[in-house]
Amino acid sequence: MTKVATKGLHEGWVPKKGEPRSLPIYQSTTFKYDTSEEMGRLFDLEDSGYFYSRLQNPTNDAVAAKIAAMEGGVAGMLTSSGQAANFFAVFNICEAGDHFIASSAIYGGTYNLFGVTMKKMGIDVTFVDPEISEEDLQKEFKENTKCVFGETITNPTVSIFDIEKFAKVAHQNGVPLIVDNTFATPVNCQPIKWGADIVTHSTTKYMDGHASGVGGAIVDSGNFNWLQYGDKFSGLTTPDESYHGITYAKKFGKLAYITKATAQLMRDLGPIQSPQNAFYLNLGLESLAVRMKQHCQNALAVAKYLEQNEKVAWVKYADLPSSPYHELAKKYCPKGTCGVLSFGLKGEREKAEIFMDSLKLASIVTHVADAKTCLLHPASHTHRQMSDEQLKAAGVAPDLIRFSVGLEDIEDILADLKQAFDKI
Ligand code: PLP
Repeated sequence: MTKVATKGLHEGWVPKKGEPRSLPIYQSTTFKYDTSEEMGRLFDLEDSGYFYSRLQNPTNDAVAAKIAAMEGGVAGMLTSSGQAANFFAVFNICEAGDHFIASSAIYGGTYNLFGVTMKKMGIDVTFVDPEISEEDLQKEFKENTKCVFGETITNPTVSIFDIEKFAKVAHQNGVPLIVDNTFATPVNCQPIKWGADIVTHSTTKYMDGHASGVGGAIVDSGNFNWLQYGDKFSGLTTPDESYHGITYAKKFGKLAYITKATAQLMRDLGPIQSPQNAFYLNLGLESLAVRMKQHCQNALAVAKYLEQNEKVAWVKYADLPSSPYHELAKKYCPKGTCGVLSFGLKGEREKAEIFMDSLKLASIVTHVADAKTCLLHPASHTHRQMSDEQLKAAGVAPDLIRFSVGLEDIEDILADLKQAFDKI
């Protein structure tokens, strides 16, 4: 099977004769073996098999394998949240004393994780403007730079990250590119095709799609050659004394990165996804392709409506031909970007509040990118921990309203907007 919609339905769980057609929930912490030698071999990573759900669980593995197949990667893992996925993705490569480069236009929670919490762990980050030239990006690399990070479609500014540009400069410097592909999903963009080495997701968003479970995922392309750079990635290329002296890159080849994230990080830090949530996530993945198509269609109609509305100061949606990101959107997301757009209203701040409070169908929630239309004002909600300067660097205007267009009938979504505009 080659198409992402088909993979969403059929990859991961492939039942054999007489087995359940739907993915079973292996709601078990532990797994039984007959001899202590069998169990010992699992701990030595000599045999593969399940022994404790903090490390691996069959339901989770089936869903991770499905996401990896949809992204075109070789292996994947699920995490308890998107935050855990992005932390693991970087921490699996960087340790205290290391440095990495991240686009400044990323989700506020990731910005905080990198700029505050990981700094406390001794891992330094340089945030760069995603519009940076290749020459200027090159200047940001240091001896101890270990990876580069960006978001395909940024939350909340919905600008498009130039994956090829960042992949090229990262690879020139012998480091991998990590891309958070949450908003585009593999239905609309597969960053690995454009040079990304590792892809992350907050599966909480479109993948789950129904706002039912918080979760995350990491996919490895298997393309980055860790051994080529010797001790630069010593966690992968030198023996792990905490795991019987295994050298992941030598023993597991293309599966080294995910094996290390599982055997070492998940073992020690433990943010697994519950098998029950993985089951819901799997249901979301089955319909992801049709939902993304409808989200994009509805969002484009809303963007066009807002663009011609005289009470609207500006609209950001890369599928609009007027968007400065339209060319990049056509290149990376030819089927459409996502259902999220942002806009600002003319006039003072109170107008925005009256407008938001007047909406009846669209609800004010912290969430984004699920089946029901919702909205948020990042400067006073998700990004409130950021200073004005940081907000500006992330491209978040104080008047920005993030509008996540759902799967309702477009006539009802537009009617709701119209009645709210009539109140201001
Ligand atoms: N990455 C992106 C692009 C996000 O939008 C979010 C959350 O909004 C996250 C990561 C964090 O994911 P989670 O809320 O599942 O921890």
